[in-house]
Amino acid sequence: PARAAAAASGTPLEVLRRVWGYDEFRGDQAEIIDTVVAGGDALVLMPTGGGKSLCYQVPALVREGTGVVVSPLIALMQDQVDALSALGVRAGFLNSTQQAWQRREVEEAYLAGELDLLYLAPERLNVPDTIDLLDRGTVALFAIDEAHCVSQWGHDFRPDYLRLSMLHERWPDVPRVALTATATKVTHAEIAQRLQLEDARHFVASFDRPNIQYRIVGKDNPRAQLLELLRTEHAGDAGIVYCLSRASVEQTAEHLVANGVPALPYHAGLDRQVRAHNQARFLREDGIVMVATIAFGMGIDKPDVRFVAHLDLPKSVEGYYQETGRAGRDGLPSTAWMAYGLQDVVQQRRLIDTSEGDAAHRRRLTQHLDAMLALCETASCRRVQLLNYFGQQAQPCGNCDTCLTPPSTWDGTVAAQKLLSTIVRMAQRGQRYGVGHVVDVLRGKRTARVTQLGHESLSTFGIGADLSDTEWRGVVRQLIAAELLAVDTEGYGTLQLVEASGEVLKGERPVLVRREPERARRRSSGSG
Ligand code: ADP
Ligand code: ZN
Repeated sequence: PARAAAAASGTPLEVLRRVWGYDEFRGDQAEIIDTVVAGGDALVLMPTGGGKSLCYQVPALVREGTGVVVSPLIALMQDQVDALSALGVRAGFLNSTQQAWQRREVEEAYLAGELDLLYLAPERLNVPDTIDLLDRGTVALFAIDEAHCVSQWGHDFRPDYLRLSMLHERWPDVPRVALTATATKVTHAEIAQRLQLEDARHFVASFDRPNIQYRIVGKDNPRAQLLELLRTEHAGDAGIVYCLSRASVEQTAEHLVANGVPALPYHAGLDRQVRAHNQARFLREDGIVMVATIAFGMGIDKPDVRFVAHLDLPKSVEGYYQETGRAGRDGLPSTAWMAYGLQDVVQQRRLIDTSEGDAAHRRRLTQHLDAMLALCETASCRRVQLLNYFGQQAQPCGNCDTCLTPPSTWDGTVAAQKLLSTIVRMAQRGQRYGVGHVVDVLRGKRTARVTQLGHESLSTFGIGADLSDTEWRGVVRQLIAAELLAVDTEGYGTLQLVEASGEVLKGERPVLVRREPERARRRSSGSG
């Protein structure tokens, strides 16, 4: 009976209604599907939750043969196949986690024409056997999921994806559809070029996710700030908390559990079984908070994720967009919240400086980081900034922190000059210091260190007493984000001038600093 349900084809709309029970196609789905059914190629840029899967699943059912889906999401293949089987669609997968006999079963089903969909890990296509196998059956179409993985410009490059241009050379008559939920103009062009999809029809949906409220707050005590967010706005909700390191994943999860939040850790250092178990609980139970590195989340289809929180700065806007995009797939109001501070900038710059790869690679990483910092430091609508980054226009949204509580900006030019001259004076003595000590000097604090170093005698000692610590850190962050000041990332995060610093010192370049809006919600849970 399962077989009959899927095998009896029909028009795309009939298939949609009969197999999925949905009434209508959404957005560009119908046109994409018509293109592929007619044998044409398509490149699809559609945000998470937009409904990309149907764009290849429906044509696979309508066309003769098996739809071959290349996907890097090995951990999810079983779930995807199970979900399809429940609908009566005949699906299987081939990847390295299987036993030989399991692979053989799937291969035989494919050869017998008994599969509507076959999911393949990209590395399978490096195996000559796989090519022969595909040749001996009938391929209805190739779907290349997470197509941005082919881009070296992007943030998620997978070398195996480069070989996918071979699909077109080897099977020129089989239609291909490449899909991604993240692509800047540059990445878009690179996908088209590398996958030989220049002549394909390109479908670019709006990347706006209006139900997601974007908020980026100053970081002081991130775990306490997170807990406050959960208690005041997301009690009992499912959500994802992203941390940079495995250690901080573990500590944050423990902290949440100790405070009564059902949280689970997820990172690549955990045992495969533990990971699978935690992921399954997150998907099946209500109100679980997954604390994870970015190893978690790609392809996770949980509609009711109510918040995504970042305790550390993502490396790129693409990463940020993709991670926050896991919130609110069901279209209901959801929160994308991030705590960000100076230390994040220092840490990320250090990672870039010590990363493997050539100068061009490091330059690329730096550009990614700079765009991310610009999003953090913007005083205008976050959504406008985010969509502009993907080459799309938008109006101020009324549903992000900067729209809801517009931050004021203040002219930090004089403050920046005071700061830079303090660093100059220290450098003249052959000394370099991190932000903490420099700010102490500016504010005229007689700390043990200040006394020991004799820094009361610097002419800039105490000339910055009019500003608070927070304001000074804002100035430093702004200067670093604008590359008017550098942080030594090899040693201790000491501050150093760069060539462009001179423009600020000479008054040729104004410095606008964002004033952090007061954290209004503080009072409500202060006692808890
Ligand atoms: P994406 O892969 O783009 O993130 P999915 O393909 O997982 O999105 O689809 C997101 C959700 O929307 C899924 O639950 C899917 O079943 C649902 N969906 C997709 N297209 C339609 C449609 N035409 N009508 C109703 N629901 C749809
Ligand atoms: Zn806005």
